[in-house]
Amino acid sequence: MSSLLRGIAASNGIAIAKAYRLVEPDFSFEKKAIQSPENEVARFQAALATAKSELEQIRDRAGSELGADKAAIFDAHLLVLSDPELISPIEDKIKTENVNAEHALKETADMFISMFESMDNEYMKERAADIRDVTKRVLAHLLGLQIPNPSMVTEEVIIVAEDLTPSDTAQLNRNFVLGFTTDIGGRTSHSAIMARSMEIPAVVGTKTVTESISNGDIVVVDGLKGEVHINPTPEVLEEYRKVQADYASQKAEWAKLVNEKTVTADGHHVELAANIGTPKDLKGVVENGGEAVGLYRTEFLYMDRDQLPTEEEQYTAYKAVLEGMKGKPVVVRTLDIGGDKELPYLNLPKEMNPFLGYRAIRLCLEQEDIFRPQLRALLRASVHGNLKIMFPMIATLDEFRKAKAILEDERNNLANEGIQVAEGIELGIMVEIPSTAIIADQFAKEVDFFSIGTNDLIQYTMAADRMNQQVSYLYQPYSPSILRLVKMVIDAAHKEGKWAGMCGEMAGDETAIPLLLGLGLDEFSMSATSILKARSLIRNLSKSEMEELAAKVLEMGTTEEVVEAVNATISL
Ligand code: PEP
Ligand code: MG
Repeated sequence: MSSLLRGIAASNGIAIAKAYRLVEPDFSFEKKAIQSPENEVARFQAALATAKSELEQIRDRAGSELGADKAAIFDAHLLVLSDPELISPIEDKIKTENVNAEHALKETADMFISMFESMDNEYMKERAADIRDVTKRVLAHLLGLQIPNPSMVTEEVIIVAEDLTPSDTAQLNRNFVLGFTTDIGGRTSHSAIMARSMEIPAVVGTKTVTESISNGDIVVVDGLKGEVHINPTPEVLEEYRKVQADYASQKAEWAKLVNEKTVTADGHHVELAANIGTPKDLKGVVENGGEAVGLYRTEFLYMDRDQLPTEEEQYTAYKAVLEGMKGKPVVVRTLDIGGDKELPYLNLPKEMNPFLGYRAIRLCLEQEDIFRPQLRALLRASVHGNLKIMFPMIATLDEFRKAKAILEDERNNLANEGIQVAEGIELGIMVEIPSTAIIADQFAKEVDFFSIGTNDLIQYTMAADRMNQQVSYLYQPYSPSILRLVKMVIDAAHKEGKWAGMCGEMAGDETAIPLLLGLGLDEFSMSATSILKARSLIRNLSKSEMEELAAKVLEMGTTEEVVEAVNATISL
């Protein structure tokens, strides 16, 4: 049956393909007495054999597509499935207790898992995780369920998930994933940000998409309107194909601006930069005419793996980005882990309020063994292009000074080792905590630039979790309170002859752009796919008119009034 769901338009474009549910199946079952233990053991062995051959296939494909280290994970799982110390007790339990295989498997595996987990030994803890994983696979076969594995899809699909963690998103096979849609999340959740950098349409925050879609349904993800159409009628499908084609020709129009400067109708130049997560995203930056990389989120280098990246690995990635941008500015943000971006291998304690907790610069200043290799890698890479370094989540001047001192220390160490480092690397901060915006005048005396991180600045100013649907009505980029903070930061930078950019999602937002232009923002950093549209908009605006508009809205009391004023001034 055809149906329509509404959500949040997280990444532009229209995608049409079959659904692939990335949803854990329901593993619940009941303990049962069985008639024939022999038959039950045979049923268990059959499930075991299917799980093994499935794992062998996954391992082989992982080996050829993802590399030997990923394949090794599945070798470890195969070993567990052949281990008599695990398998025999399960079969014994079926025979001696006359219970179903599901129960015997779960009880035995849980016993081993809790035994290994209680050991104070990382290796044994990992074995517990392996047992948990393979048990699920065998249990799935006993129950006739399928476990999703998105890295292994071999046809074009739309991923349907409750949410996608940054590491889920990083594992998606870009050749086959045409779009995605989720139950939860907003425009600034990381899954949305990744969708934009992968240039695939996405609709998030639909609340019920996982309940509404089955594997194989035909799904249209309308990332322009924020709608998901399930099994549309041929007529509706035809309409979407037309919208898809219109969007493609609109994009072709914008594409003509790829080598143009971003200059307003009255001759004021601003810089349109791109936010990237990996060196792979550079292609999109170049294709979309990015004048710089305004935010390189380095945390993706640390994700989807089981240990920290080495200094050398980091150096290679930073060098690739700097060289790829051919001398254009590249702002690299140091590790911003925590919040919704977890690194399981760091074993950080679970926190009540991760967004207010031990994250980003707070963690780096305390764990210098993590911070220093990144700074060294950055300094070494600096000779390959136009590097600027930026610290995330700075709340106090003291934090900035400490981070800068560590950077200077590493610069000296490299000099003593005879390793070359570029001169005059600009050093800036993200302004994403209100305390920093409020004393931006003090910071401006010590930093070379600001980049306003509105994704966090809005959540901290409004005290509204950026991931929480329930309070999303408070997440108001055009609120006069946010605009006043943005103005304070820009004015403070300019007073000291410094530049101010913005790398939060607001910088690429059509309603915000006229206001930010009027407030004097120098650099707008956004998803690469938003750049050409933004350029087309800015070229039609007059800076002096936008200054008048900005002055007017700063005196307003509500978001609604601001949006109305913008709409009355320009027609989007
Ligand atoms: C921000 O907070 O605006 C930002 C750009 O950083 P992130 O989205 O990675 O937290
Ligand atoms: Mg942030």
